[in-house]
Amino acid sequence: MKTLPQPSDRAFVPFVSVANMMRLVHTIGLERMLLELADYIEEDFRRWRLFDKTPRVAAHSAQGVIELMPTSDGTQYAFKYVNGHPTNTKSGLQTVTAFGLLADVSTGYPTLLTEMTLLTAIRTAATSAMVARHLAPEGARCMAMIGNGAQSEFQSLAMKAVLGIDTVRLYDIDRGATEKAAHNLAGHGLKVVQCATPEQAMEGAQIITTCTADKQFATILSDNMVGAGVHINAIGGDCPGKTELAPAILHRAAIFVEYPPQTRVEGEIQQLDPDHPVTELWKVMTGEAAGRTSPGQITLFDSVGFAIEDFSALRYVRDRLDGTALYQQLDMLADPDDPRDLFGMLQRATP
Ligand code: NAD
Repeated sequence: MKTLPQPSDRAFVPFVSVANMMRLVHTIGLERMLLELADYIEEDFRRWRLFDKTPRVAAHSAQGVIELMPTSDGTQYAFKYVNGHPTNTKSGLQTVTAFGLLADVSTGYPTLLTEMTLLTAIRTAATSAMVARHLAPEGARCMAMIGNGAQSEFQSLAMKAVLGIDTVRLYDIDRGATEKAAHNLAGHGLKVVQCATPEQAMEGAQIITTCTADKQFATILSDNMVGAGVHINAIGGDCPGKTELAPAILHRAAIFVEYPPQTRVEGEIQQLDPDHPVTELWKVMTGEAAGRTSPGQITLFDSVGFAIEDFSALRYVRDRLDGTALYQQLDMLADPDDPRDLFGMLQRATP
């Protein structure tokens, strides 16, 4: 058992590797972690006004995007480095990888550096479920999961843990991806149905999650596929020129977003007029705006992923790390005995 660095040894930064993140998830239990993280994220959405907010800084290429996502609540600062490269899987690489850092605003010293590829999948799923808690129709038990890649099992289990979904209907253009997801989800307490078409996947589903990866204006859902009263959780449209829903669906839906200046550029709503009405989710959490208002309403979470969700995830990991051995101490910050004698420290280390 270790305790996290105290002020006297702040030069050492706790680092959580992929192996240790997996141990942490198994120690806590994935579904419990999804539930607890959903609560952390909701807590931070309620404190929305406190945060420094900016659309993420994106570097686009023909193959994908690399993004930096910073935010601060005035006490702690966080950023995530994340990529999105839909063609990566063809060469055995993942579409999305990430790492992130938490720091103390009063000193500027980092307090945590961690892998965030797994943590992003977990925080994205926890956010989806936290939002569905406010928007999904009463008593939703069945979910369609369209796009069965890296995020899909996390998305399914978060809806089970947080909402009580008991059935997931899987569809992917790649049959192998659906088989992989069905295999992974076996034994997790969900009824899993493999479907041959998106229409079949959506039969009887009250929640429809789209989580595909393609750098284009794709039409994963067309207007005639979407019936009254469903909640759409649109995850995969998260870049300029990369969407999943036919614009007609957007015109029928009540649209909920994380941070409008980012979502207007990256989300499904890039297909709409810039002043098309949307509701900011934090206002639903604080009670300043309504969530679902009628059973027949189509609600849409136009998810792109926002820095505050990563901040919550980093805060959660840092809180759950204390008293465990699931991190290494990184010698990452120079620590001269006399803070102004950086040169002397170097000179004394002459071989
Ligand atoms: P992935 O590449 O592992 O999986 C994507 C899956 O989509 C693949 O199995 C692919 O075959 C399938 N697919 C592609 N086109 C399809 C179509 N027309 N119909 C059905 N299936 C189709 O990617 P991933 O890591 O699971 O990420 C999925 C998407 O989610 C990406 O676009 C990623 O950028 C996005 N994402 C968003 C957030 C967020 O916060 N909103 C967070 C993480 C990832």
